[in-house]
Amino acid sequence: MIKDERYILDSEIESKAYAMLAGFESQYGKIVKPPIPIDRIIESYLDIWMDWDDIQDTNEEKILGYLNPSSKKILMNERHRDHFEEYIGTEAFTKAHEVGHWDLHIAKKSEAVQLPLLLPKEKITYLCRQQKLDKREIQAEKYAAYLLMPHHLLMEAINDVDITKWPDLYALKNEFGVTITAFTKRLKSLKLIYITEDKKIFHSQAESFGNQNLF
Ligand SMILES: [Zn+2]
Repeated sequence: MIKDERYILDSEIESKAYAMLAGFESQYGKIVKPPIPIDRIIESYLDIWMDWDDIQDTNEEKILGYLNPSSKKILMNERHRDHFEEYIGTEAFTKAHEVGHWDLHIAKKSEAVQLPLLLPKEKITYLCRQQKLDKREIQAEKYAAYLLMPHHLLMEAINDVDITKWPDLYALKNEFGVTITAFTKRLKSLKLIYITEDKKIFHSQAESFGNQNLF
């Protein structure tokens, strides 16, 4: 079997994200309800600097932000401030995605900081394009979802909510500070909801079939 060093099990991505939260909580107190304080995790706990930068990109290949491990910086693309403001939750998600690169892909954090600054920027940074085909980009996306919507907080939040109703889902995604896309994707991955092509929500695919048979 060919070993792909960059392959990381989802369960490992999930436990790393939860370990990150546990580490933060051990210093700053328990997070009892959403949203996850992503800015504090980055700036206070990880001591990573965040700023805005004008990052050249194209409409076809938008770059929302990047991580520069050697300078311990997360730079958000100034060009997409409108996008971040319009789609509430995209900013937090992009930041959590960069934390994902930091946690999953920088093996030795102390060495990363000492990487020669003379290296070409593109070799040491994680430019995060919206079209995420690269394996590490997908891993960082998954990490962000686990970090911002950890299982225990999610299960607690949906406990007495009807997750087959769009208004309830919107209220919940606002609580977590994520986009509706990210939120429904997380619920789908946990097999808690099934959404039909005409945007009806069911608890499962079987339930949706059952429903169709009624008519
Ligand atoms: Zn990325």
